[in-house]
Amino acid sequence: MTKTFKIAVFHGDGIGPEIMGPTVQILQQMADASDSYALTFADAPAGAAHYAKTGESLPAASMETARAADAILLSAMGLPDVRYDDGTEISPQIDLRKALTLFAGVRPVTLKHGQQTPLNMPEGREIDFVLIRESTEGLFHTQGRGEVSQNEARETLLITRDISEKLFRFAFDLAKNRKTAGRGPGKVTCVDKANVFRAFAFFREMFDTEARKHPDILADHAYVDATALWMVQKPWDFDVLVTENMFGDILSDLGAGLMGGLGLAPSADIGLDHAVFQPCHGSAPDIAGQGLANPFAMILSAAMMLDWLGIKHDSAAMRNDGTRLREAVEEVVARGNVLTRDLGGTADTEAAASAILSALFVT
Ligand code: ATP
Ligand code: MG
Repeated sequence: MTKTFKIAVFHGDGIGPEIMGPTVQILQQMADASDSYALTFADAPAGAAHYAKTGESLPAASMETARAADAILLSAMGLPDVRYDDGTEISPQIDLRKALTLFAGVRPVTLKHGQQTPLNMPEGREIDFVLIRESTEGLFHTQGRGEVSQNEARETLLITRDISEKLFRFAFDLAKNRKTAGRGPGKVTCVDKANVFRAFAFFREMFDTEARKHPDILADHAYVDATALWMVQKPWDFDVLVTENMFGDILSDLGAGLMGGLGLAPSADIGLDHAVFQPCHGSAPDIAGQGLANPFAMILSAAMMLDWLGIKHDSAAMRNDGTRLREAVEEVVARGNVLTRDLGGTADTEAAASAILSALFVT
């Protein structure tokens, strides 16, 4: 029986619409070719350009579309020269994260054969791990609301039991799913600074409590500074890493660097009921409107959406399509003849997206 899933689509700003168009088209064709699931897409206008036009950055109707959807696809939002009256940046993706309690920022770090990297990789090695960044509290708790006086400034590090328990449960479930899918050994590493901060000792304690419920999954600890070193020296040793907001922010940029840049870095912001899938990169206004944008990070984010929906709704067909889509991108990257400029090629956005369709449907 065919099950239909509603996808909310934020086309966003800058290169956003240029990478979202072909991504939706690819998803549509995969769904059309499947007899077990169907996808419907609903546009959700939002972002900086929308704000400039209407005075609203995230209209209530778009929020409603997002809430009602089974999953949310988002390209990138925000433009350097469009700001709120008080000068702050327009980033409805952060409002969405808060409104839908998307506590787990999921950043896969993968390095496959043929992909560029600044690392000197030993022969035959590949990287495949996932960094989970807590996305609602931690060192970002007071964001914009710190106390500053003439001679002192203070910010708060907030770790709550409620969010931490959800975060660690999510991390162990992910490790289990990866193990089942043959993508990892089933290991979760809690990344913290428990030797210095009581808040991180508390974080670690809750991690250990969750770990005891999963005897089939290995539980490990690492300090954040050592983790940064190991991400460069032996990144193939990691499976699932879970960490606080600011540490995750920094380590995920390091992860994008290992993958050769932003062009191949997907992400997801996941909560209990909702999830947003978007590339790690921004709206790249410097190259917007020229057909130069690399659509692969967006397409890989769409593959994560299929994985997530497939697991949530127990659809092997969707999980399988998530894998197929990711492998199609890996294949095109490894072949190396249809790449956008950021990856050293000369192809435009449309040609790069077409290469993915060919890899999927032409045998
Ligand atoms: P944000 O604050 O929204 O994260 P940012 O200032 O970090 O934005 P990005 O928009 O991510 O910047 O762009 C950083 C650089 O990477 C720019 O030079 C941009 O052109 C390039 N870039 C980002 N995404 C892509 C892409 N999909 N394809 C090609 N180049 C990209
Ligand atoms: Mg950025």
